[in-house]
Amino acid sequence: MDQYFVVGNPIKQSKSPTIHQLFAQQTKQQLNYDKHLIEQGDFYQTIMQFKNDNIKGVNVTAPFKEEAFELCDELSEFAAKAGAVNTLIIDGDKIKGDNTDGVGLVNDLLNNQVPLKGKRILILGAGGAAKGVVAPILEHQPSQLIIANRTLKRAQDIASQYPDNIINVVTFDQLEDMSVDVVINATSAGLNGQSLPVPASIITTSVICYDMTYGKELTPFLNFAKQAGSENLIDGLGMLVGQAAQSFYLWRGVMPNVNQVVATLRAQM
Ligand code: NDP
Repeated sequence: MDQYFVVGNPIKQSKSPTIHQLFAQQTKQQLNYDKHLIEQGDFYQTIMQFKNDNIKGVNVTAPFKEEAFELCDELSEFAAKAGAVNTLIIDGDKIKGDNTDGVGLVNDLLNNQVPLKGKRILILGAGGAAKGVVAPILEHQPSQLIIANRTLKRAQDIASQYPDNIINVVTFDQLEDMSVDVVINATSAGLNGQSLPVPASIITTSVICYDMTYGKELTPFLNFAKQAGSENLIDGLGMLVGQAAQSFYLWRGVMPNVNQVVATLRAQM
């Protein structure tokens, strides 16, 4: 039976095996999918061993997405733009890399009736997750794409991958006088129990607030957005399942039903 893995460090918390097992049941595909902890420094050697063992594909999570990018023989356009890979397709001698985070996010936004075309979109954060979603968002032609990050250099590095002035890079302070339609939290601040220095003035009733993190309770960012007046709050569970669905499609050629799996996971929370 074809074997797949998700690798990272830590990896214990990963929902990917559950998600892919649900996809396999739903689409009647025969496969095994397990999690595998990799120690720092062992990424390359582990993936080469997987290749020798005829493993068909690997999902890569923090902190190895950049190393995965370096190791690939071929890259998709989104992976090349992102400089980060979350999906490895092992095809005989070749390792192909893709980044499905952005497709997962964009599909979830569209699924939630969030239009992107002609809208002003603000991304908070400039880490691996932000890098992965910029190109797929730009494909939908927002009128403005702004990246705010604590470390400005990281946001500038992302913007430098795209044509001049397409991305507006700012500090959190500079958000005070801005007006946007959609805010996407791509920081890990909530996970660390830290709050973001985002001015409440940027969030009004109609501003759609999306948090890449998710949970049983409202996430700290969505809680802040609610207090600030937003009536449109979406967490990142749909993105998580959506990026997994895109990986599954790349490996198996079959697109699973994302909504069904999101509903199953929500019920288990
Ligand atoms: P990284 O570690 O690569 O980046 C973290 C980002 O958060 C950086 O921009 C960092 O800013 C910022 N940050 C962290 N703490 C603070 C703080 N206290 N104040 C301001 N900014 C802060 O993480 P990832 O990009 O990989 O992941 C980000 C989040 O997205 C995580 O919560 C992750 O779980 C989630 N995620 C969700 C996915 C999904 O499918 N739903 C997929 C991928 C990620 P600085 O550059 O200044 O350090």
